[in-house]
Amino acid sequence: MRAYRIPSPGAPAEWQEVPVPRPAPDQVLLRMKAAGVCRTDLEIMDHGIQFVPWVGSYTLGHENIGEVVGLGEAVTGRSIGDMVVVNAGGTCGVCRNCLTGDDNFCTARPLVYGTANDGGLADFMVARQRDVLSIGSLAPTTAAPLGDAGATAYGAVQRALPGVGDNGAVVVIGVGGLGSFALQLLRLKTTATVIAVDLPERLAHAKERGAHATVASDAGAAAAILALTDGTGVDAVLDFVGIDATLTLSAQITRSLGSVTLVGTGGGTLPFGFMASQAGVRFSTHASCSLEELTELISITERGLLDVDTTFYPFAELERAYDDLRAGRIVGRGVLTF
Ligand code: NAD
Ligand code: ZN
Ligand code: ZN
Repeated sequence: MRAYRIPSPGAPAEWQEVPVPRPAPDQVLLRMKAAGVCRTDLEIMDHGIQFVPWVGSYTLGHENIGEVVGLGEAVTGRSIGDMVVVNAGGTCGVCRNCLTGDDNFCTARPLVYGTANDGGLADFMVARQRDVLSIGSLAPTTAAPLGDAGATAYGAVQRALPGVGDNGAVVVIGVGGLGSFALQLLRLKTTATVIAVDLPERLAHAKERGAHATVASDAGAAAAILALTDGTGVDAVLDFVGIDATLTLSAQITRSLGSVTLVGTGGGTLPFGFMASQAGVRFSTHASCSLEELTELISITERGLLDVDTTFYPFAELERAYDDLRAGRIVGRGVLTF
């Protein structure tokens, strides 16, 4: 079968012919139906960043929907024909974070699909039974972005929510694949003012996805956001870009006791010190959402409460999808069809 793979640490991706995998006893074999392309793939392909420890050459693709076409001998909870989403970060189920339901922060990850172990940029992939969830009535192409973009936005929003007041404000920086979900989820779950920060050409889309106010990401952004909050700052910032400039902005615009959640892998840093922000601001990084939250997200989407913005590309033309992502030409998520 065709697979788009990272052949060695730090090397660019390439097409390879590889055998169709055989499911281990606890795995299902999936015929790929849809796969989203993520900016994280560009960090891996273009900048040689390996986010999780290298275990060997691997197939990219961490936002995967497939049809179950084969069952390992120990699989009992899945049937041939099931349409499933793969939870990109495999969970151990027994570490402290897994036991408290924070399994997206599993500290004993058995495997990670598409960033260390084989993912879905191939005609087939295998996944452990415990890592797949039914997509219910959703079309595979609608469900695909939920697996990573939606999941990560959902997880980050859920984490920030306890600190968001009914009359408060939240800033979303970067309204692309992930940020488009975050805006909508904030509008669904809070009565706070939702402010989007992005490049000027992206702000109309941010409005369509629910931003009450939009601010261009430039030198005047901090002053504009503070003005929108009578000078006090916002309750929470979700940074889906993560460069020096957006982290600096985040620290400048967050109110005392507010939170800054960093999701973007732009490689930026923020000097930390007593005067780095208002008093009591909490800074954290965030990845994905729990399995339970992913089932909630699928259900919310099935009920028509979220718009999933997609641009489709045939699997064989995935390089065009990545070129469009590099150039900022994709609104929402690029999704490969098989
Ligand atoms: P994307 O390209 O679809 O969206 C990025 C958005 O940021 C675009 O709208 C772009 O215009 C905007 N942007 C670029 N520079 C900006 C700036 N200086 N100020 C404001 N906005 C700016 O990317 P995506 O796939 O949504 O991924 C977003 C980030 O999240 C990436 O860094 C990706 O690697 C990361 N990511 C992290 C996780 C995780 O679990 N932590 C999961 C998925 C993606
Ligand atoms: Zn991703
Ligand atoms: Zn665990």
